[in-house]
Amino acid sequence: ARKFFVGGNWKCNGTTEEVKKIVTTLNEAEVPSEDVVEVVVSPPFVFLTLVKSLLRSDFHVAAQNCWVRKGGAFTGEISAEMLVNLGIPWVIIGHSERRALLNESNEFVGDKVAYAVSQGVKAIACIEKVTNWENVVLAYEPVWAIGTGKVATPAQAQEVHCELRKWLNDNVNSEVAASTRIIYGGSVNGANCNELAAQPDVDGFLVGGASLKVSDVPSFIVPLV
Ligand code: 13P
Repeated sequence: ARKFFVGGNWKCNGTTEEVKKIVTTLNEAEVPSEDVVEVVVSPPFVFLTLVKSLLRSDFHVAAQNCWVRKGGAFTGEISAEMLVNLGIPWVIIGHSERRALLNESNEFVGDKVAYAVSQGVKAIACIEKVTNWENVVLAYEPVWAIGTGKVATPAQAQEVHCELRKWLNDNVNSEVAASTRIIYGGSVNGANCNELAAQPDVDGFLVGGASLKVSDVPSFIVPLV
């Protein structure tokens, strides 16, 4: 069985004080055990160490991006090696905001995923060039649902997730198709998460806006079992 996965993507938001508040809320939340739901929060780079140091040990942190290859003369970038050095286990790669605003191509995203995974950082990613699927979670986020309040219907999400799993089955193999978690993102909140989670091929969420709201934070983790 695939373990449910819930990611909070904070995007480019937060102050030290706000970050501490969200972490406190997460730390106090009564949620299913780590064996049942994997919870990962993704603060901006500058808060990664702070969050890692304050966050409960059954939750984990993710960076929101990393450089496509080994570090070096790439001003403004962060390498996968640095994430390993800091003990950051996950990275989000190829978010549609980066594709749209920073022109990240499929090719570039694929290279990033492959490199990060090769260095031992697990990826919350979009497809391509992956040979080691064990350390990859696939995120489906319809662009029209991101930050709009227009969540996909459970049937819409299921249809696409099922297609993605079929793609894995046809292009990789049946074991990878059966074991890879495919998560949904786009206007997920405490009110709509249950119905989505009930779909057979929806294995978790990548939550944006609601992951920043102290009132909403535990609500999309708690009901998931
Ligand atoms: P919202 O939950 O704010 O729609 O954002 C989704 C998202 O882009 C998560 O990565």
